[in-house]
Amino acid sequence: MSGLPVYLTFDDGPNEGTSDVLEALRMESVKATFFLTAITLERTPGQQYSLIQTMLQEGHALGNHGYDHDPMTRRGYNSTTPSEVKKDFDTNLEKLDSLFQVRNGIVCAEFPGFKIARLPGDGRFMPNYVEMIVRDLKIPHAGWDFEFADNGRMGHITHRDWQGVVGVAGTKAGFPSSHDILLLHDRHWKGKKELLANLIRKLKQKHSFAKLVPVPPGLRSIKYPP
Ligand SMILES: [Zn+2]
Repeated sequence: MSGLPVYLTFDDGPNEGTSDVLEALRMESVKATFFLTAITLERTPGQQYSLIQTMLQEGHALGNHGYDHDPMTRRGYNSTTPSEVKKDFDTNLEKLDSLFQVRNGIVCAEFPGFKIARLPGDGRFMPNYVEMIVRDLKIPHAGWDFEFADNGRMGHITHRDWQGVVGVAGTKAGFPSSHDILLLHDRHWKGKKELLANLIRKLKQKHSFAKLVPVPPGLRSIKYPP
């Protein structure tokens, strides 16, 4: 595949939209990075395990998005501490580690761990929290450059029917730039795998797709450990 590389990322899964996202990626033969929150589907561990296993088997990358997606707003971040949020990211890893151990039965499955993280919500605007990720978790922190959702889903994603893809909205009218990180959310694509595949096909006119693991060097929206 040729074209300017971009990075598809999907946040907050696995959840009710994840199987449609995986199917769209399969249909278009592209790889993505999933930023996981273990609280989702925690009560249906079999389903949680099988979706994450599928991500791994099909060659997608995983990122740490914290256990419970809290805090999320600047106000929320201002009323907690980096060490509390670190605990939340550690918990996320521990929960998924034990999910894999408990489910492994005879086959010795092991959760591969996280090589990249993303703070929920406004976290990327909170320098002391981004600093905690790179210094204490010792992995890069990934922000994003461009966001997509289905039309009308999120108020700040204003360009509806982006580039003629009916039903999909983007934060900018034009195509992403080379090496942009693209943010999407699993739950927006529930029942909409064709729509997501249409978006990917449109992006293919100018872009190729890469994963955030191994973490590519020199990306403008990634903060790297010192
Ligand atoms: Zn999120």
